[in-house]
Amino acid sequence: MANFDIGSCDFCYEDNRILKRHYDKWGDHILDSCMHGCDSQLSDANRLSRGLWFSVLELKRLEVSYIDSLWHVICVDSQGKQFDRRLRRFNSESPESLKRAIEDCTSYIELSKLQLSIHYD
Ligand SMILES: [Zn+2]
Repeated sequence: MANFDIGSCDFCYEDNRILKRHYDKWGDHILDSCMHGCDSQLSDANRLSRGLWFSVLELKRLEVSYIDSLWHVICVDSQGKQFDRRLRRFNSESPESLKRAIEDCTSYIELSKLQLSIHYD
């Protein structure tokens, strides 16, 4: 998954950092550190929210149920980085509306918010 975790680092105590999660050998989450190192600007989550745009190269519906649909999208951001993602959306989503929603995003954080989370009881 290409989703970012953002929060405070357990080493430098800075907030709003892009985090790398650390787990112990039993798979329990123990602490977080800056993804690209505490001294690196790349770990600053603010950089993710600066005027990016995305264009959709390919978009395919993988599944559709009575409530939601699962999509595979291949995008390129305005810095030329290509990536792909699986996005869960309502079943009423069309390729056109999803493309529009993605292309309206200006950061990876916004893009992550397109992910629909449905909580089943
Ligand atoms: Zn740090």
